[in-house]
Amino acid sequence: TLSNRLALIARLVPEGGKLADIGSDHALLPVFLCQQGIAVSAIAGELNPGPFAAAQKQVREAGLEKRIEVRRGDGLAVIEPGEADVVTIAGMGGSLIASILSAGEDKLKETERLILQPNVGEEQVRRWLVEHGWALVDEHILEEDGKIYEVLVAVREGAASVNDRLYGGADSETAFRMGPYLLNKPSPVFVSKWQSELVKLNRIVHQLGESELEAAADKKAAFEKEIADIERVL
Ligand code: SAM
Repeated sequence: TLSNRLALIARLVPEGGKLADIGSDHALLPVFLCQQGIAVSAIAGELNPGPFAAAQKQVREAGLEKRIEVRRGDGLAVIEPGEADVVTIAGMGGSLIASILSAGEDKLKETERLILQPNVGEEQVRRWLVEHGWALVDEHILEEDGKIYEVLVAVREGAASVNDRLYGGADSETAFRMGPYLLNKPSPVFVSKWQSELVKLNRIVHQLGESELEAAADKKAAFEKEIADIERVL
């Protein structure tokens, strides 16, 4: 059975498409989606030998070798344009996700949907999407085993106008940081995530307040603005 995190990602995959799951580890997501008949076929990409072997084993044991191909390689290097309608990248930092997308952007020409689950650095993923012509259409946040995860869904249609609507307002910084959909309907998990961020930020501000360095004052002001921006949402 899937973790709640992977189950949420699975629910966001439309029926009937070809999936590429990059950094698939045990290939749990492609196996589940093919077993359920949601994905027609899938590619599980893995860079590292251990997870690659684990993915192969999982697919073999599920008897899905005909529908799931496990490929070894870095990021999107394992696919060709047109091979994946949906690309999922989950369980990595946002900067790694953004660099995988940048390095393999030409592979995404015919891909319709990205489902991205950064463990940290969500803001970098949102910025990458805007800068590369993708429209964020859905965001989710969940807590599992004491960790909080965000899942971002992007499509190509209407990117310019969607992004203008999401980030064109007065406080685009906050939208990139906290998520334009998430901040409009602050769930308890969202509030608890940002309350613990506030604790960290307040600690930094306190430390900067004690510093004699001149640059500390500017940094302190920037953090205080960030704190005020977050508090306004909560
Ligand atoms: N996607 C699964 C999930 O969300 O449960 C597995 C997440 S696991 C924490 C991250 C996986 O990404 C690891 O198996 C790692 O080997 C793989 N990985 C890291 N960098 C990668 C890259 N550049 N290309 C492909 N896989 C990568």
